[in-house]
Amino acid sequence: MDARIGVLALQGNVSEHIDAFLLALERMGYGPSSEVFEVRSPADLEECHALAIPGGESTTISRLIDKNGLFEPIREFKGGIFATCAGMVLMASEVADPRVHPLCLMDMTVDRNAFGRQRESFEADLAIEGLDGRPFHAIFIRAPVVTRAGPGVTVLSSVDQGIVAVKKGPHMAFSFHPELGEDTRLHEQFLKGIGIT
Ligand code: GLN
Repeated sequence: MDARIGVLALQGNVSEHIDAFLLALERMGYGPSSEVFEVRSPADLEECHALAIPGGESTTISRLIDKNGLFEPIREFKGGIFATCAGMVLMASEVADPRVHPLCLMDMTVDRNAFGRQRESFEADLAIEGLDGRPFHAIFIRAPVVTRAGPGVTVLSSVDQGIVAVKKGPHMAFSFHPELGEDTRLHEQFLKGIGIT
């Protein structure tokens, strides 16, 4: 099957996600008929097998999801969702910030900006469940953590402050930015999880 992957393009690091998915698809042997494109409307979303929700400012992305009539369509989306950083905040069921209208696609509580001001951004080598055993070099930028993962949410990686990678059915969410850098193992694992092999 040809893969059609949408990247929610309302705010945040959109082009990095497009490039990372194109690289992952190329490494998996997909040809030029596979597409990675920007999603701004419910009609765009209908074209996708998978959706990436990028990092950025979760309060802003949340407002724009509502404004563009995408809240219910994303909630009802049948494909997989690959969510990073602000995207992870939006996937949660509980966020202690009333400006975020969470999609409630993963039963979990997320704490925004959980690493504090002194550590706005840092990098760490993480062990991640399901990868080949080699650590993943993760870049955290004003990152959230999951403070509670409900039943059905699988924890893939944690650090001292909390959980930083989770999976539920076809969806994956990360506190960090796997789209920055050339390591596409998490993208490839996500695509395999939704039947793009
Ligand atoms: N701190 C941001 C938020 O909660 C997320 C930061 C990011 O996506 N890099 O919206």
